[in-house]
Amino acid sequence: MPDDLHAKSSKGFGTRVTHVSRPGTRSHGFVNGPVYRGSTVLYPSCEARGSINAAGFEKHALTYGTSGGPTHFALEDAIAEVEGGTRTLIVGTGLAACAVPLLAYLKAGDHCLIPDAAYGPTRRLADGLMAGWGIETTYYDPTIDAEGLRALMRPNTKVLYTESPGSHTFELQDIPALAEVAHAAGAKVLMDNTWGIHHFQPFRHGVDVSIQALTKYVGGHSDVLLGSVTVNNEEDWHTVARAGRFMGHYASPDDCWLALRGLRTMAVRLKHQEAAGLEVARWFEGRPEVLRVLHPALPSHPQHALFRRDFTGACSLFGVVFQPRYTQRQLDAMVDGLKLFGIGASWGGFESLALPTTGYITRTATSTELLGGPTVRFHIGLEDTADLIADLEAGLASLGR
Ligand SMILES: *Cc1c(COP(=O)(O)O)cnc(C)c1O
Repeated sequence: MPDDLHAKSSKGFGTRVTHVSRPGTRSHGFVNGPVYRGSTVLYPSCEARGSINAAGFEKHALTYGTSGGPTHFALEDAIAEVEGGTRTLIVGTGLAACAVPLLAYLKAGDHCLIPDAAYGPTRRLADGLMAGWGIETTYYDPTIDAEGLRALMRPNTKVLYTESPGSHTFELQDIPALAEVAHAAGAKVLMDNTWGIHHFQPFRHGVDVSIQALTKYVGGHSDVLLGSVTVNNEEDWHTVARAGRFMGHYASPDDCWLALRGLRTMAVRLKHQEAAGLEVARWFEGRPEVLRVLHPALPSHPQHALFRRDFTGACSLFGVVFQPRYTQRQLDAMVDGLKLFGIGASWGGFESLALPTTGYITRTATSTELLGGPTVRFHIGLEDTADLIADLEAGLASLGR
């Protein structure tokens, strides 16, 4: 069975992630390909060695381990399929996937726009290394409209960075409208699409470079760290690949293999987790202890119309704002008492998580006080939803009215 992606792109998502990048019968008949580990790539002759582009930017070119091997290529092709782009660069972490395109498109003297609700470590990169190299960043309200963005653009603005929904606060961005403004001013649009996964198709909405933390739902089992940078044309590929390769970014083929394994079941996990997440989110909305729930797929979300317009579904990560009468200590004690929710960062695995976020959110262009109360971020896993709700019910009872 040939890997004819285009023939398959008319098929459903579950069908595509089940079939993409499989070896057919070439792997001694086994369903999955092997893990190809390697640094040195051998050639039959000096002439053959001389005929290759040593940078390894050509698709599936085997030059040296750092430009990847067959296991990387299989994952690259699969993620390009998920994102609807032409080529993908796999790097060691989701954070590296944020950093590589930022550093690829920006140089000393350039200006970058980053949404106030960007993933925290992305802010740290901008405020630290990027600022030190003479790259200036302006943080902007993620809910900004086209006119507001136009006012922030400068002649040296080279990158509009986006992340929708925003980390911890879950604001949605009007990506097509913002992309139009950025492109008219000659800036590239980068997007951290980790929450959207395949539910948001970046290249149909004006994005030039899409970032995923494969650590989350693609890995799906909390046992792998990996990131991807996907583009939709050769020029962007060269820009991104140069930066990634020149800085020596790489990912272990074992981790790529685990991500491919996670991908095979991602469609069904996501479908379950989307429904379970919404069930728990709606349950929270009905509780008197809760002020509001930050979940883009709920009609109560302030930008729900954008969700309906641009997304085909949701993942299972959302925030809960509790009534301001509760202190953070009370909420911490409630979270400590939950039996089925782990306390920890990351998300997208099979297990449920709860993480108090009050005090951990940095905002400079907007204010988290607008949230109105202490917040907890929930990730809903594959446990039975009734058990999760029973656990939460006992937790909220411990809070008292
Ligand atoms: C987790 C995450 C990252 C970073 O991924 P790591 O693999 O943990 O480095 C980047 N962006 C978002 C939105 C994330 O949630």
